Amino acid sequence: VWANCLRVIKATIGEQSFRTWFQPIVPVQLHNNILLIQVPSTYFYEFLEEHYVEELKRAIHQELGPDGRLEYSIVVDQGNAQQKPRTLNLPTARKSAGPAASATPAATAMANSAMTASARNVAAASVAPAPTPATLRNPFEASKTIERDYLKSQLNTTYTFENYIEGDCNRLSRSAGLAVANKPGTTSFNPLMIYGGVGLGKTHLVQAIGNHIKATNTDKFVLYVSAEKFTNQFIESLRSNQVQDFANFYLLVDILILDDVQFLSGKDKTQEMFFHIFNHLHQAGKQIVMTSDRPPRDLVGLEDRLLSRFKWGLTADLQSPDFETRMAIIQNKMQQDGIDIPPQVVEYLAHSVNTNVRELEGVLISLVAQSSLNRREIDLEMAKQALRHIIEEVEAEVNIDFIQKTCAEYFSVPLDLLKAKTRKKEVVTARQVAMYFAKEHTSHSLKSIGHHFGGRDHSTVIHSVQTVSDLIDSDKSFRSTIIELRKKFAGR
Ligand code: ADP
Ligand code: MG
Repeated sequence: VWANCLRVIKATIGEQSFRTWFQPIVPVQLHNNILLIQVPSTYFYEFLEEHYVEELKRAIHQELGPDGRLEYSIVVDQGNAQQKPRTLNLPTARKSAGPAASATPAATAMANSAMTASARNVAAASVAPAPTPATLRNPFEASKTIERDYLKSQLNTTYTFENYIEGDCNRLSRSAGLAVANKPGTTSFNPLMIYGGVGLGKTHLVQAIGNHIKATNTDKFVLYVSAEKFTNQFIESLRSNQVQDFANFYLLVDILILDDVQFLSGKDKTQEMFFHIFNHLHQAGKQIVMTSDRPPRDLVGLEDRLLSRFKWGLTADLQSPDFETRMAIIQNKMQQDGIDIPPQVVEYLAHSVNTNVRELEGVLISLVAQSSLNRREIDLEMAKQALRHIIEEVEAEVNIDFIQKTCAEYFSVPLDLLKAKTRKKEVVTARQVAMYFAKEHTSHSLKSIGHHFGGRDHSTVIHSVQTVSDLIDSDKSFRSTIIELRKKFAGR
């Protein structure tokens, strides 16, 4: 009967949808004109109900006549070896089941249709109060509940291995990344931790890993998230009492890519949550990929037990690209964007911009912009001009002075008090916040930061960073303050 139903359904819906939503269904039994089918999960059941109720109805009626009914059995405890099917009589069970109680329009339609099994049947099939099928919220799209197969990976498809230029500076990281991309979760590179300075290609590389896995394993849920976003989602889940939902969401992930893990420094509760998720995923053989702007041993403010987990896999670094690699990166970029630049200009750029790849790209973009603005071919003269501009910008980039000035202004305290001994509350706050941003946005050591704040020692800086982190976690308005201020330092 089910095979016939499938034929009817297959004729009306797309091949892809059919494969995703109907092939996994297992027919269990036909009894009293009620067909019992087993579906893999609650999400699955809800999705069928919302999107394919008409098709199902038509097929059942065609096969079993107008009295034909359909009943679902949902496999609970996904990932549990001994899966116990649980018979659910759909509309009735939904009504009694906590969060799933609000029946969707589709469910109501079903309840009114002949497909509804009788309440008696429920009693007969009823099992121990099964764990409530959770209606998880998707932290990336707060308004949406989770539909696993439709979850977005948050990946940017422009980041690939093909356009990730290989050089001495990134050889180990790149090949480790490729290995992980080809065999996620099964190499000894789990977790894979990539570290390196700003603009050296961490995000590009880990996104390339994600994109590669996604393209080759369509059934795997790859998720890219910055540690900052992760933190904000977690805080939001605390605020709205949905921590369990938050955790459950992350436990669905097959490949978790956490970018800029240093952002978790000093955020103990977020770290604890990540620790939990990490352990669970790792144990289940899921791949974890992380990046950091510094080597794990320098990740001050990260708990030891978390740091020790990072050592389970492989830690690889990214260095500044050498001249040849910079040339190759520019040429690749030119080709990709259809830009034409004379060779001696390419060489000049590769020679002069030796800090990081992002800056190199910045110069290229500004050159192209200028050339089209002035309707002039790019030449050496223009390159020199553009570079002067960029170099000035680099000099004006975020430094401690700028951070101190901005924070003093924001909190309306005199700048020199940040470096003085004053313990007045608003001065202390401004000072601590400035230290926090100095830590976040400059490469100064704790000692050097302390030095810039009237010769305070490094433990004072640690304390300040910690205090600010704690406040971000606990005080919502303070958190907004930090977010607002951070915008002023962003894009360095
Ligand atoms: P990070 O995350 O380390 O700050 P990104 O991954 O954002 O750096 O890289 C900055 C820019 O440089 C991106 O546009 C990226 O595509 C580019 N880039 C970095 N490394 C390479 C590389 N090896 N080949 C090509 N482009 C690169
Ligand atoms: Mg990055």
